Amino acid sequence: MNACYVTTSIPYVNARPHVGFALELAQADVIARWRRLKGQDTFFLTGTDDNAIKNVQVAAREGITPRELCDRNAVFYRRLAGALNASVGHFIRTSSDAHHQGASRFWAACRKEDIYLKRYQGLYCVGCEDFYLEKDLQDGRCPIHGTQPETVKEQNYFFRLSDYQDRLEGLIVSGKLRILPEARRNETLGFIRQGLRDFSISRIRERSGGWGVSAPDDPSQILYVWFDALTNYLTGLGYGQNGEGFRRYWLGSPQKTHVIGKDILRFHTIYWPAMLLSAGLPLPETVLVHGFLTVDGQKISKSLGNAVDPFPIIEQYGADALRYYLLRAIPSGLDGDFSEGRFREIYTADLANGLGNLVRRLEVLCERSGYRVQGKPCCALPAGIEEAVEDFQFHTALQILWDRVRCLNREIEAVRPWDLLKADQNAELTRHLWAWVRDIRTLARALSPFLPETAEKILAQFSPGRVAPGEPLFPRLA
Ligand code: ZN
Repeated sequence: MNACYVTTSIPYVNARPHVGFALELAQADVIARWRRLKGQDTFFLTGTDDNAIKNVQVAAREGITPRELCDRNAVFYRRLAGALNASVGHFIRTSSDAHHQGASRFWAACRKEDIYLKRYQGLYCVGCEDFYLEKDLQDGRCPIHGTQPETVKEQNYFFRLSDYQDRLEGLIVSGKLRILPEARRNETLGFIRQGLRDFSISRIRERSGGWGVSAPDDPSQILYVWFDALTNYLTGLGYGQNGEGFRRYWLGSPQKTHVIGKDILRFHTIYWPAMLLSAGLPLPETVLVHGFLTVDGQKISKSLGNAVDPFPIIEQYGADALRYYLLRAIPSGLDGDFSEGRFREIYTADLANGLGNLVRRLEVLCERSGYRVQGKPCCALPAGIEEAVEDFQFHTALQILWDRVRCLNREIEAVRPWDLLKADQNAELTRHLWAWVRDIRTLARALSPFLPETAEKILAQFSPGRVAPGEPLFPRLA
């Protein structure tokens, strides 16, 4: 049996999580749960990037230590994974000893020729944790953050990325390293074909406020945040301790998927594979890239203060309602929008009136007619689901399932089971109930990677024996 590995990126913890990270968690969790449904041994990793310079700066502004800031904010990311019901195997923090050990070990494992010292000067955006060339700036400002990069002049270690240009291109063109959607693959190839430059992989201790992972054998240097952060995918499996998880899920798994946002594409599709090649380790199989979320059609920004806090939404509507919106209304790979108005519309139409109503009708019909559910749910999945999920088209999979929900609701209306009940035509009603219960159980099983809690409730409700109506799955909104 193939082992599988799924990760989210690890966000900077300079602020609390917003709904965009919930999207990433939800997509990664569908993959993890889907693979388990298919009987595969799957490990899901998420966590936080504690070592970014940004954290040092925000902590300084607040008059606390970077560790205090990270401890305070990491809690919310861990809590979000729990609240969203993400089936996480481990929550990695890059300030942990296990990560420090692993990141140093990774540096030492890279080809000696690939790491060298160089004095240089560059334009650095702290928000991106990346250097820019003058020509890539917009009016002298970072194209993503709109801030003026700082001029950094120092002696650092560099990684010989330029040596990997042809191999990276070959791996992507051949599909050995799959980047989805296609537009992101092309973007990566375009970037590689412009010519890859070596990149700095450390900074002097003072510029990092002493925070981060020390370079092996040179305590005057701290690992550059990406060179450090990317190794979380290994250290989260116990790479530094030669853990069994690392052997099983990294070395032994042909299905390793990173789910990331488009702003960190290059780090995952160029830097990271080159680093792994240098260290003689296998590459991930797939990098699945999602877009940005806007809120009410507007870019999420600090100045607008429009970041959506996912916790109150989960509290009010339930984790599955948020998962449904994120997975259904935002096609994977594309940009999407979150608005509470649209959220409530979809909730009412698809969850309360759609699935919720279907389940309620079946429960009541089973109860009134004394129908007894028998046997196990069938293992088959509705047609088209498999293809959709394997292509990471989660919204298509949900569309297929909700077509089924609509069909079943219509069929029940057409059959008029209440009339059959009144007319005491139990044999005919039983025949219909048998088929409907079979269908709702099949549906619930297919739904389990997407809306795990709802699926579980439906399967429990229609488990062998008599059925008694439970609490509504999705209460109608006031
Ligand atoms: Zn930037």
